[in-house]
Amino acid sequence: MRFHSCCCFLFALLFSAFFCAAQTANSGTQPSEFPKEIPSFDVTAMDQSVDPCVDFYQYACGTWMKNNPIPPDKARWGRFNQLAERNLYILRDILEQAQAPGKRTPIQQKVGDYYAACMDETIVEKRGAEPLTPTMDQIAAVKTKEELIQQIGVMHRDGIPALFTFGQMPDMHDSRQTIAVVDQGGLTLPDRDYYLKDDAKSVETRQKYVEHIEKMFELMGDKPDAAAAEAKTVLAIETSLAKATMDRTARRDPKNRDHMMQSGAAATLAPNFELTEYFAESNAPKFTSLNVGNPDFFKQVNEQIASTSLDDWKIYLRWRTLDTYAPTLSRAFVDEDFRFNDEYLSGQKEIEARWKRCVRSTDHNLGMALGQLYVDKTFGPEGKERTLKMVHAIEAAMHEDITDLTWMSDTTKQKAYEKLNTIVNNIGYPDQWRDYSTVVVTRDDYAGNVMRATAFEVQRQRNKISKPTDRKDWGMTPPTVNAYYRGSMNDINFPAGILQPPFYSNNMDDAVNYGAIGVVIGHELTHGFDDQGRKFDADGNLKDWWTPEDAKAFEERASCTADEYSSFVAVKDDKGEVKLNGRLTLGENTADNGGLKLAYLALTNIIGNTPVKPIDGFTPQQRFFISYGQIWCQNVTDQEARRLAIIDPHSPGRWRVNGVVQNSAGFQQAFGCKAGQPMVREPACRVW
Ligand SMILES: [Zn+2]
Repeated sequence: MRFHSCCCFLFALLFSAFFCAAQTANSGTQPSEFPKEIPSFDVTAMDQSVDPCVDFYQYACGTWMKNNPIPPDKARWGRFNQLAERNLYILRDILEQAQAPGKRTPIQQKVGDYYAACMDETIVEKRGAEPLTPTMDQIAAVKTKEELIQQIGVMHRDGIPALFTFGQMPDMHDSRQTIAVVDQGGLTLPDRDYYLKDDAKSVETRQKYVEHIEKMFELMGDKPDAAAAEAKTVLAIETSLAKATMDRTARRDPKNRDHMMQSGAAATLAPNFELTEYFAESNAPKFTSLNVGNPDFFKQVNEQIASTSLDDWKIYLRWRTLDTYAPTLSRAFVDEDFRFNDEYLSGQKEIEARWKRCVRSTDHNLGMALGQLYVDKTFGPEGKERTLKMVHAIEAAMHEDITDLTWMSDTTKQKAYEKLNTIVNNIGYPDQWRDYSTVVVTRDDYAGNVMRATAFEVQRQRNKISKPTDRKDWGMTPPTVNAYYRGSMNDINFPAGILQPPFYSNNMDDAVNYGAIGVVIGHELTHGFDDQGRKFDADGNLKDWWTPEDAKAFEERASCTADEYSSFVAVKDDKGEVKLNGRLTLGENTADNGGLKLAYLALTNIIGNTPVKPIDGFTPQQRFFISYGQIWCQNVTDQEARRLAIIDPHSPGRWRVNGVVQNSAGFQQAFGCKAGQPMVREPACRVW
């Protein structure tokens, strides 16, 4: 269901990790005291022994980084995470009240019972892996390759990602209509690179992965010898899938994912997928044509379906089921799942307390019900108003910025204005709340609740096929600390979760608010005009509105940004050095650079030339940049930095700050930086 081209402000949607909330706590630590509000501008976070023109990130965040080591239950710890953590406490209060017996609203009943079932470790423990028995029995009963595909269809409806994906997306050529799409899929590790690269770390990871699969099968009752052989089978199958998978950077170009065809032609393309039968049994509204995201994947895997034995495929399906639902099972499964996925792959030392995982799970699976209670408690109508005011100021700045561009012709500028003027702003929460009344939730069946809520969401998405595109549907829940732009909808979206300190505070001056939430707004606006977004027009259709000369000028400028970030080191440890992929992160880096410029322009328009008294010894201009730098104060484990360098289209905090200010004339002026200093890049990379 991740088919929207969606550009988020940061990766790892803090409240939406898939099923992440279903694990058992290792430690008996009780919830500690409620975290305080996060300060918006924090002089005590700075390291003023460093010259801001030499290393601005260290200057803005040095003391914070020293004093805020990563908590044992996290792989990354920054100001975003602090805010998300604070939201967890707010949501826990809401859920504890909702789970208590007594008079409850239907919404309280739904989320309260879900949370209660998750927290009831006694029942979860007693049931062990029993919740998976029906699916495992179905897999065991498969007799032919046709039945194999049917079984995959059943598993897809329960949200188990196996072999390929099926879902919906707005038509890239007529975004008013939503169409069906099939695409590559079926991998367990975070990226194809994990299967295909030969460096020491990748080889080690595959070895650990095989050991992990083996342990999980043993927990299901398989004999050690059998489990070891099964683990090798899974790796072999997934490695073949990985070879057929298009890499992330290539997928950034929408034309590489755009292959409309008649459904009959799709079925003929890869007959062993039995797509005609699959579609017929998918419970989706009828459709005659669809998008095949990566036709080569289907062609290649078509061979694999034939050449791999039925028994081996059944082992793979058992594994995908077990891996997907392990967090909902008893402690032995939860612990082994944590040990590999969080501890080994991300460097997280301890599992999160169970209540945190249960809050996340509720948000993930019933988020638009929990979000309603969250909004009632935290987000007044004035929150929408004040955000909208800033959005309008930054849209005006973008208009001004486009007018001033020296490299773009008037013809393209007119189209750019048109796109800018059409952008829809969604703030806080959806106009209409999602209705979960058909999702059956009981207090004694946590795994079942997760499956039913997941199946509900899969079906809800499928129901959109062959219908007018639903532009009102949100892609993030209200408590999420994040924001996003959708190319096909041409809209920017700011959940209530991010519209609070340190991003926005009524008690702060404009400089500080524009440096934080202002840059987030500018970032999302710029996504409409980054390497990916610029290929969609005002209506969200894949249509070239650029003159060839202007497109060339854009690409030259974008290449400067790509080369700049490719030179930055993401992690350097005993397993070697990994640099950022400047092409994978190009859209986000363009949005960061553009966002900072637009927010600064909007601030300049507000404060004008009237002298403003320094606060804490800093001018408003300096406060703007320090405020921006400080939203990125963070510490990350080496393991997590390595994982993110492969899969995350965003740069790490250090480079989101230093990579951007190096290109900013406003920054250099505010701090009096001189040519030749590290925070003065020559030539500077400027797209917008
Ligand atoms: Zn973004």
